[in-house]
Formats: sequence, structure tokens, C-alpha cells
Amino acid sequence: MQYLPNILFAVVLIIGIGFFARNVKKITRNIRLGKDTDVSDNKPQRWKNMAKIALGQSKMIVRPISGLMHLLVYVGFIIINLEVLEIIIDGLLGTHRIFAPLGNAYNILIGSFEVLALLVIVAVVVFWIRRNVIKLQRFIKPEMKGWPKKDANWILYIELILMLLFLTMNAADYQLQQLGTDHYVQAGSFPISQFFIPLFDGISTQSIILIERSAWWLHIVGILFFLNYLYYSKHLHILLAFPNTYFGSLEAKGKLKNLDAVTQEVMLMMDPEADPYAAPAEDAAEPEKFGASDVTDLNWVQLLNAYTCTECGRCTSECPANLTGKKLSPRKIMMDTRDRLEEVGKILDANKGNYVDDGKQLLDDYITMEELWACTSCNACTEACPVSIDPLSIIMDMRQYLVMEQSAASSDLNNMMGNIENNGAPWPFNQMDRLNWKDES
Ligand code: SF4
Ligand code: SF4
Repeated sequence: MQYLPNILFAVVLIIGIGFFARNVKKITRNIRLGKDTDVSDNKPQRWKNMAKIALGQSKMIVRPISGLMHLLVYVGFIIINLEVLEIIIDGLLGTHRIFAPLGNAYNILIGSFEVLALLVIVAVVVFWIRRNVIKLQRFIKPEMKGWPKKDANWILYIELILMLLFLTMNAADYQLQQLGTDHYVQAGSFPISQFFIPLFDGISTQSIILIERSAWWLHIVGILFFLNYLYYSKHLHILLAFPNTYFGSLEAKGKLKNLDAVTQEVMLMMDPEADPYAAPAEDAAEPEKFGASDVTDLNWVQLLNAYTCTECGRCTSECPANLTGKKLSPRKIMMDTRDRLEEVGKILDANKGNYVDDGKQLLDDYITMEELWACTSCNACTEACPVSIDPLSIIMDMRQYLVMEQSAASSDLNNMMGNIENNGAPWPFNQMDRLNWKDES
């Protein structure tokens, strides 16, 4: 019986981490459904980008208020969770505050965790007000209705509860230390939770122990729950922002990629020396399909992008198409890609890893042609994204499919492309007539 809490703790830990590992496996499998792409170049620059953008939050600070608040929550959450290590060791070994022998260093750590916990609470409240009271434009766009809105609020509630549990646990512990209760070693400093002490006036020692133990258990169970909630949430970005910024594009801003087969074809057309009847070069492999109509046509970095999207809407708030009332929202492009990828993943789960055609695809069932053709390819969305996501690349791949596989460009575009092909210019005039204007009176 003496070891029952330790055994129970070990079981809870194994279940929590086990489910998390299962979810990580699913995400990895789904991302691997994407086509291969070579991102092995310039590793030093990639590490630098990750350190600057994901760790240093450099793109968040562009909007100072939300950037600072986000930084507080991020730093607070990471650092406070160092204390989870102590909880895990205590839970497994049946000790209490095992790092207490660190002395003053321990006191400073616990004290700074408490200050950060308070700052996290302030930031979470500000975030909640921005979303639910002030209702910032980017948080109330059509794609944010339903689950995305609930998810954003749930994350704030969970963070708030975890921080309050942490402070309650410390306050009860501090009171028990002052009462000289067995097992509660004198350790830590409590600059914030000390103000909760009056709440324990008139409460028996046994009840305070119960409060301390309940807060301790709920805190660690809450953390394990949160860890598993990530998979279903936009909050997955706290993990994926790191690989995503590492694998982000190093190309010049806004550079569009060309298909090799098409490039070679055009080069051949432009080369006056080329033999139009020559057999194609052996390495000029033609792709099975031009562009993308479903998630499996995208590359794995684009799929990683979709899982990393924080749904912050910074891209949409900078998108000229969205700002002028068009249906396009780059955030929705990413959310749709993730939703469709999840749908494909569920089909695989239900059919022992085999894909069974469900008659649906990313194009039309999630993203419409109207959205795709509204894009000006200005690259503002990619520039604005705080975690190096590139919605434009998905839009361009899907457009490529529409043009090259479906000939489904708008009539204006089809006319322009026909003119370029026939007249060498986007206008419907023969090249021989180009200088006619000089004879006009
Ligand atoms: S590239 Fe397209 S989606 Fe991105 S901001 Fe510009 S118009 Fe909007
Ligand atoms: S793509 Fe980037 S900017 Fe747009 S919502 Fe997602 S995380 Fe935010």
C-alpha cells in the first residue's frame, strides 16, 4: 500500500506518454504522405533560422503587444515546465521537492517560476479579451467559427488552470512548511503564492495536505492531458514550429518553383539551334501529374506547414485579396490542407494503412477555384507568418494543376496565355502589327 501512489503515478505517466507517442507516430505518417523534396542544403542557415524564428520568436515581435504577450506565455510555459521534472521524479520515487538540496538556487528557481506563472495568467487574460471581447478582425473571420474558436479558448483555459494549480500547490505547500508538517521540507520561495496563505486560515492540516496533493496531481495530469490535446489543436505549433522553421524555404522571397519538364520544354522552344524533332533527354522525366489536386500531391514540407499553422491569421490580415473582400484566406488554405490530411489519415487508420478513395480531394471539396484565382501571388502571407509557413506554394501548386491538367484557368488567363503563345505578348495583336501605332495620325 505504501507504494500505491508511486505505482499509480507511473501508470498515469505511461498512459499519457504512450498516447502522445501514438499521436506523434500518426502525424509523422501523415506528413510522409507528401512528395519528397530536397531540403538538405545550407544546414547552418537552417539552424540559424530555427534559432531566430522559433526559439527567438523574431517574427512575433513585429506586432509588439501580442508579440510580448506571446513571449511571456512561451517562456513561462517552457520554464515552468522544468518543474515538471521534479514532479515526475517525486511521483516515481515518493520523495517531496527532491531538488530542495540545491538551496538558494532552488529558492530562486521556484520564485521565478511563480513570477512567470503570474505573467502567463496576465497574458492569457489579455489574449482571451482580444478574442472574445474586443473581437479582433482576424479572429472572427469565417474560417474561425466553430471548433477553431473553441480550440483557441480551450487552450487559454487550460493554461490558466495549470498556472492556478501550480500556485495553489505552492501556497498549500508553503503553509504546510510553516506548520512544520512531516514530509514538507523547508524549501522554495513563494513571492506570489504567499498571498494565498490567508485562504487557509481555519483549515485543518489534513485538509491543506489534501489541497496540496490534489493540486499536485491535477497539475501533472493536466500537463499530460495538454500534451495529448496538442494533436487535436492548433497548439501543435509549440512543437512543430522548430522543424518547420528549420525546413522553411531558403529561396529568394516570392520565388516560384518551375517544373523541370516544363522548363526544359520552354528552353527548347526558345533555342534557335534546337532540333524540334530530337528525342527528349533521358533525364527529362515527366511528372505523373502536374500540380496538386489533393494533399498527397503536395510535398511533405507543405504538409508539415499545415500541421504547424497556429491559425493566428497574421497572413490573412495582410492578404490583399482578403482585405478587398475576396473569398481567399491564406489561413483557411492551411487549415483546409490540415483537415483534408487528417481525413486521409483516418481513412488509412480505418483500412489498415491502405488508402480507399473517398471521392473527395483538397480541390473543390475544401479549397475552391474562386479562392485560388483570387491570389495575387504577392507573398505577403508568407512574409507575415511567424513560423515560416508558405500558403502561396500550395496555392500555386493547385493552380498549376488547374491550368496544366484541367485547362481550367479563368477565360482572361486563357486568353492571355493563348496570346503569349501565338503573338509573343499578352495582347491580341500580331507581332507584325506592333509598330502600326507609329503610322497612326
Ligand atoms: S500571396 Fe496570395 S494568399 Fe498570400 S497574401 Fe498575397 S494574395 Fe493573399
Ligand atoms: S499560415 Fe502562419 S500566419 Fe497564417 S494563420 Fe498559420 S501560422 Fe498564422
